[in-house]
Order: sequence, then C-alpha cells, then structure tokens
Amino acid sequence: MVSRILMHVGPSVANYGVLSSAVAPNLGFASLEFNRAMKYSLEQYREVAGADETYTPFIIPGGGTAAMESVVSFLPRDSKVLIVTNGVFGDRWEGILSRYPVKFKILRAKAGQAIPTNQIAAELREGGYDAVTLTQVETSTGVRIPVKEIASAIRPFVKLIIVDGVASIGGERMNAAQWNIDICLTASQKALGAQAGAGLLAASGSAMSMLQNPSISGYLLDLRNWAKIMQNFLSGGGGYFATPPIGTVFSLAESFRRIEIETMEARIARHKACSEAFRKGIMEMGLDIVAAEHLRSSTVTGVYVEDADIAKFLQAAMARGVEFAAGVHPEIKDRYFRVGHMGWIEPAHIIMALDAIEGALETLGRKVEKDSGKLAAKNVLEKAFSP
Ligand code: PMP
Repeated sequence: MVSRILMHVGPSVANYGVLSSAVAPNLGFASLEFNRAMKYSLEQYREVAGADETYTPFIIPGGGTAAMESVVSFLPRDSKVLIVTNGVFGDRWEGILSRYPVKFKILRAKAGQAIPTNQIAAELREGGYDAVTLTQVETSTGVRIPVKEIASAIRPFVKLIIVDGVASIGGERMNAAQWNIDICLTASQKALGAQAGAGLLAASGSAMSMLQNPSISGYLLDLRNWAKIMQNFLSGGGGYFATPPIGTVFSLAESFRRIEIETMEARIARHKACSEAFRKGIMEMGLDIVAAEHLRSSTVTGVYVEDADIAKFLQAAMARGVEFAAGVHPEIKDRYFRVGHMGWIEPAHIIMALDAIEGALETLGRKVEKDSGKLAAKNVLEKAFSP
C-alpha cells in the first residue's frame, strides 16, 4: 500500500511537526506551558483573523460547529437573524438557530453560486435584523464570497456581522477589524492546519457587550462561561470551566508559530498559487469546476466528474496515494468531488493530486492526454514560486 496524503476538505494536508506537538508534552491544563500555549494561540488567532485588541479571542472545545453554536451567546431572545447560505455549511445555521428562541430568514444560493451583495443589503435594509451570518468559503462547493465588500454594504443595516471562516481563516485574507466584522470563527483542523478539537472565535467590543443580555444559550457553549477565562489566559494566567482540548492547543500553538515565521501574506500567496495551479490542471484535463469563475476559493475546489461512479473514482485516487472528499451538496451530490488545498499545502501536493486524478479517470475508462494537467499546473507553480 502506498502512503497517503490527505487532501480532504478538513482535516487537510497534514504537517507532522504540527500534529506531533499535540502528543509530545504530557502536560495538564493547569501547567504554565499550557497557559503559555493558550495565550500565544489566542493572540495569534487575533493576528491571523485581522482582529485588533478590541476583539476578544476564544478557543473552546469542539470545532467549527461548536464555534458556530456558541455564537448564540450573543443573540438576545427573539432576535432576528438573516442566514445567507451558499451551501451545506451555510445551511447549518438553520439547524443551529432552530433550537433557540430566535427568528431567522434564509437567503439560499444555487450550488456553485453566491447570493449577490445587493440582494443581501436590500434584505437587511428592509428587514430589521439583529444579525447576519455569512460563510467566507462554503466547503460544500468551494465558493468564496467577497466578505469585505459585503460587510461594507450591509454595515449600516445590522448589529452583528457573523462570519464563518472555518474553511478560510489561515488561508484566505480576513481583516476582521478593518472590515468591521463582529464575529469571525474557525476550527483548528482546517486552514490553520492543526489537530482537530478546537473552535476559535474573535468577537468585537459590540458583540461582547451583547453578553450583558440574559442568556438563551445552553451551558457548555455559552461564551459567558468562557469569557473570563480567556481574559485570564491573555493576561498570563490560567483557568478552568470545562477541560480544554489540551493536545490540540499545543498543536495550534505550533501552527501559529509556523504561520508567524511564514507570515500571513506569504501564506495567502501560497494558497492562491497552489489553488490556481490545481484548477488550471483540472481544466486542462477537461473537467469543470463547481464554483462560478469569480467565486473560486484558494482553500477548497469542487470538481465535476459527470456520469461517473464517484465512490469508485475516489477509491481509485486513494489507491494512488491521495484522499479527496466526496460531494455533499444535495443539488449535485453524485456529480462531483471536493479537494482541500489548505493549511500545509505545497506545490508537490498539487502535482500528486493531479496525477492521482488522471489515474482515477483512466480507471473509469476516461481518455486524458497524458500528463496534461500536471504540465499546466507546473507552469503556474513555476511562475509563482521561482526565486
Ligand atoms: N463551517 C464550515 C464552512 C465548514 O467547512 C465546517 C466543516 N467542514 C464547519 C462549519 C463545521 O466544522 P466542524 O466539522 O469542525 O464542526
């Protein structure tokens, strides 16, 4: 059996140094080492998300869904939320909010598309909303929305702008403070490239003031229970509300250390170049991309393989050493697969992925011009990474 690289949409391409730092130290959550790892990770999350010191960062157990559900902490009873969804993960807000005493309306785009900015703005202008949810990169399709442009168009009409950056933060640009985002959240295992197990959030001063309202949250994910502890960590101390994901926090700290060395600018450029090369290779092999051309992300790509047994295709790719993700969007589920090119993605992974795809297509009996995808990708990569 060949060893495999993981180009799933999350966890994605792994880095052994980052993963193994989760298990190396046999340390508890009351150790000074843990306090330091939390403080550093909280501060670095703020950096990576472009959130300044007016934002409160949180790291809580769970992952992206836990971070999403914890956002209910900021919503007063009977508040009205606009859910803007471009796919399965935007839809998740409906599943969450329907468990709480809040009202919501949904604007839902077709697969591969996004709700236009002017439609979001028009709805918020008319609707008297307290909050809006946006998904920077929709993982079910690879659609990326222009968060900066949308936030600037809607800012006057809504109190809380909430951005799910689970499939983007750490690989795409996020400037929470400059763009006036109230809450931006992510998970440890995606573009930050650490072990799974933690949800991360940064909340603006006005979001934090909403924690004065009576809570409609449950217990574990009520951020009122975590806020004081996060402040303690930030000022060099520690604290306990529920056991934190200790190993994941050490792994996160190692990710952030490497991100700091690489710089976010270089990391964003690396993601952009690798994703462009991948898409170029895919199109050269005659395959289509799910996301509309102006909405393609640097972290996730959905690829159509029409009239094919996708499970067989994925198995054939796996046998060649690369694991991709199946399609999940209900409109197109059986017609595509998804690729995560985020976190520790490198040019060599792109070439390996295209090689596995070429081989898997041949297994399905498809004709592909030999090495065409790889050569097209190589041209893009050479331009981007030449000294
Ligand atoms: N939002 C987005 C955009 C996601 O991609 C995911 C995970 N695929 C989630 C939320 C949920 O995160 P988790 O699986 O870590 O709970």
